[in-house]
Amino acid sequence: MKKILYPLALVSVVFLVSCKQTKSSNNQLTMNIEEVVEKNENKEAVIDSVMVKKHLYTLASDEMEGRKPGTEGMEKATQYIENEYKRIGLKTFDTLTTYRQNFEYKGIKMSNIIGLLEGKSKKDEFIIVSAHHDHLGMKEDGEGDRIFNGANDDASGVTGVLSLAEYYAKKGVNERSILFVCFTAEEMGLVGSEYFGKGIDADKFVAGINLELIGKEPKTGPKTAWLTGFDKSDFGRIIQKNLEGSGYQLFPDPYPKFQLFLRSDNASLARLGVPSHTFSTTPIDIDTDYHKVTDEAETLNMTVLTETVKAVARGTQSIIEGKDTPTRVKME
Ligand SMILES: [Zn+2]
Repeated sequence: MKKILYPLALVSVVFLVSCKQTKSSNNQLTMNIEEVVEKNENKEAVIDSVMVKKHLYTLASDEMEGRKPGTEGMEKATQYIENEYKRIGLKTFDTLTTYRQNFEYKGIKMSNIIGLLEGKSKKDEFIIVSAHHDHLGMKEDGEGDRIFNGANDDASGVTGVLSLAEYYAKKGVNERSILFVCFTAEEMGLVGSEYFGKGIDADKFVAGINLELIGKEPKTGPKTAWLTGFDKSDFGRIIQKNLEGSGYQLFPDPYPKFQLFLRSDNASLARLGVPSHTFSTTPIDIDTDYHKVTDEAETLNMTVLTETVKAVARGTQSIIEGKDTPTRVKME
């Protein structure tokens, strides 16, 4: 689809330009080209289900060896994400000269992977779209499958980050800057996101959109997701408002006892006051693949994953456009 769409878009630009050329001044001509290009950009800004599947199956493949920090498999996953950021056209953040924010933890060299889509008018107001690319690695011994592929946890979330990066880069409506961040060592205790949090001015961070386990149908039913820490800010209500009429619904986290608001990378930013929440869809109370070697790409529902990423795109748009600003989080 994409390969066909793109040349068609170019042809229509050339066609319209040649039509206008006879009667327009140069200034008008430039304007018309921009309008048409913008229109085509908007047309192409879709969450592409083929691309969603490609990201998921690549990141959760055996080749990535369970994406444990410091391993060759993790290096492969990192390079895949970096290449996608580059293809999409993301910039590096702040003083970094590459997408990697390198640091060492317990003697292991690791990196968050950060890509920037600069805001059109509010460059200094940041929204972070995140997921963790690390997982548990491999069992040291034993028969059969030894790889913790972490398809749902959290290749599904990273798939969301990459898909949203491409979507927003093409859509071009982000008045605010968006940072796309794949956090490392979440499974070791939110290590990557805590490191990231120490290096930022939290007041400049308007919202945090974290994605975890978004590949299975939740107990709230099809075309729904739930949000952790729903009552900690009005972020969730903004999303609900934006999803009205879409057929997709967002609910508060149905597992308050599990304290999920504190158990993913959103917490590292929420502790700094940022309205930073995690979207999830998985029935985590009964999910038999959670932190097991059976967390494979084949166990995920691609429709749930794609529809959820689309809903996050629609639900967060007014924040990205700078029209809505969620209230700050106060931790007790
Ligand atoms: Zn996770």
